Amino acid sequence: MIDYENLYWLNKPFFEDYQISFGETLNSGWYILGKGVDTFEEEFASYCHVKHCVGVANGLDALILSLKAFNFPKNKEVLVPSNTYIATILSILHAGLKPVLVEPDIRTYNIDPKKIEEKITKDTVAIMVVHLYGKCCQMDTIMELARTYNLKVVEDCAQAHGATHNGNIVGGFGDFGAFSFYPTKNLGALGDAGAITCRSDELAEKLKALRNYGSRIKYVNDYIGYNSRLDELQAAFLRQKLKRLDEINAHKRKLANTYFSLLTDKVIKPVVENGFYDVYHIFNIRTSKRNELKEFLLEQGIKTEIHYPIPPHQQKGLAGVFENNYPISEEIHATTLSLPISFIHTEDDVAKVSEAINKFADLHL
Ligand SMILES: *Cc1c(COP(=O)(O)O)cnc(C)c1O
Repeated sequence: MIDYENLYWLNKPFFEDYQISFGETLNSGWYILGKGVDTFEEEFASYCHVKHCVGVANGLDALILSLKAFNFPKNKEVLVPSNTYIATILSILHAGLKPVLVEPDIRTYNIDPKKIEEKITKDTVAIMVVHLYGKCCQMDTIMELARTYNLKVVEDCAQAHGATHNGNIVGGFGDFGAFSFYPTKNLGALGDAGAITCRSDELAEKLKALRNYGSRIKYVNDYIGYNSRLDELQAAFLRQKLKRLDEINAHKRKLANTYFSLLTDKVIKPVVENGFYDVYHIFNIRTSKRNELKEFLLEQGIKTEIHYPIPPHQQKGLAGVFENNYPISEEIHATTLSLPISFIHTEDDVAKVSEAINKFADLHL
């Protein structure tokens, strides 16, 4: 049996370190917004080459608070890729703004920079890019557009901790980088956790207030804030895992390379481009016989996932929000399959998965 992922085994290499972190936090007697969060924020800001990091409760809140910090007038428009995880779009709605979908590039699965300009109106205030599956977006082109049209940029970095483009790391291109540390992410906690990276002193101060009831000084409230704090305990666990994030990413890249060399060309593989350091939160392939392939692999004891089965504009919960069709997004959702590629998988696992896929391809593709 090859699991798609297994959180017990994924965290097992860190158990001893986590025990130490748990003991230290327990003994500190300080469980909310203390030294652990401060130190993690400094370390993660440094990892992302930005001045500030503000820990929050989860990735969705990181996105919502980023948008809230700008104080945009209600119903202004935010451009967002049509094939992202639902959280990105929900954050725009929860911030009282209007999501405007932009189709992705079918090769990279990231927002297509060529399709951004045609969606900009007098009401557009921001672009929310998503570094999907662990691949950085075409940020040089996107930042250029943002400067031309005076738009803010929020990066959804939930799937791309450590990914780079031309040596620049995600979370440092736009005004804000919103991160999730949900347990399955490349940098995962033992529960919910998130953070926002930014370069501006003023915006960082505002975020620190927004996450804590709008308050920087106890019982003095400057904004209509939230309760969205990163726990001391999660920060302590994250500090342990951050030390090995580069190793985790390198391992995933090694497995990706094994897939590239073993997998048949009858399935569509992720694109590899010069100047991009992809961290493969997800390694997806595409085929018109996706459902049959998933079933076939399961019969051989290989578990896979689909990211994602239903495009956001077709979700029941978003009925009435979007009018148009998004054929590229629909094509991706209908054909994509995510293969096992976690820190605990081995090259031998990848060889077995590849062999099974190649066998399916010989028979059916
Ligand atoms: C996981 C994820 C989120 C949400 O993170 P949570 O911590 O679960 O709130 C947002 N955007 C993307 C692209 C994600 O993959």
